[in-house]
Amino acid sequence: MSPRPDLGPKPHLGYTASLIERAAERRMDAAQLAALVNDPGARVYVVGGELVVLNKGGELHDPAFMFAQARALGHTAELVFLGLIGNAPRFAIALDPATAESLKAREELVVTDLRSIAVRGLVDADHLPPLAEGKALLNWHMRHRFCSNCGAATNVVEGGWRRDCPACRTQHFPRTDPVAIMLPVKGDRCVLGRSHRFQAGMWSCLAGFIEPGETIEDAVRRETREEAGIICGRVAYFRSQPWPFPTSLMIGCHTEALSTEITIDRTELDDARWFDREEVASMLLRRHPSGLSTPPTVAIAYHIIRAWVEDEVELP
Ligand SMILES: [Zn+2]
Repeated sequence: MSPRPDLGPKPHLGYTASLIERAAERRMDAAQLAALVNDPGARVYVVGGELVVLNKGGELHDPAFMFAQARALGHTAELVFLGLIGNAPRFAIALDPATAESLKAREELVVTDLRSIAVRGLVDADHLPPLAEGKALLNWHMRHRFCSNCGAATNVVEGGWRRDCPACRTQHFPRTDPVAIMLPVKGDRCVLGRSHRFQAGMWSCLAGFIEPGETIEDAVRRETREEAGIICGRVAYFRSQPWPFPTSLMIGCHTEALSTEITIDRTELDDARWFDREEVASMLLRRHPSGLSTPPTVAIAYHIIRAWVEDEVELP
């Protein structure tokens, strides 16, 4: 095994370590929620589809609006209660995506997508988890206005954490879609792949949605076999990350490759190949001779890959 490379201090994993206390008991009571909206410390994140609206600042922009200011931006739809930071209520409110787009022209605002905000560090990192929470929840509302059981229009209740059908009485809860994201490893080598939508030179972990009736471990083995033709054995859970594009939970794993021959599913992947530890270290450090790289530090893939390069993976 090659010596452990020095990759510097470990960066923060984006959208994690939320300061929000969700205070679910406060969601139930409409009067309490109204009081929270009127709390002078209340702030609201403004989301329009993929876009987030920020108050332009100096080095960092501020995504937390006063209510009056947020409502003056345009017609707002769902309002959701995210929880409390300290005693200060935090909400998110949906703007029509076209309205959000039109706000790009306003000089005192910055309007851009959450990925760019995270990757470019446009706001204090403490804002990323509540922004992820708000964006995912509002996206669910946008796509679940009607009852999936009977087709009637549904009503928002509990501060945005449920939709009720007045016709058939079904209760609908916000969904989270689990995705297995994994690094197959064998000795001093690992498999990385490229999706068709990746920028040139970027390689990452393999990933796929976990299907009904499947364990995380089964999904890791199935996706690796389907996408790259690699047979895997043991699976070790690493860590997880909310990924609000639109409502995923990334479940990071390492897995032991039992076979080495790669057969690529070209509908899923542009390419996949074996890399040795030294080459991957140079990619993490952005010093690869051909300019190959891993995903940015905000993404869990970076951390999954790095943990293996730093020899921190123990398969059960
Ligand atoms: Zn219904």
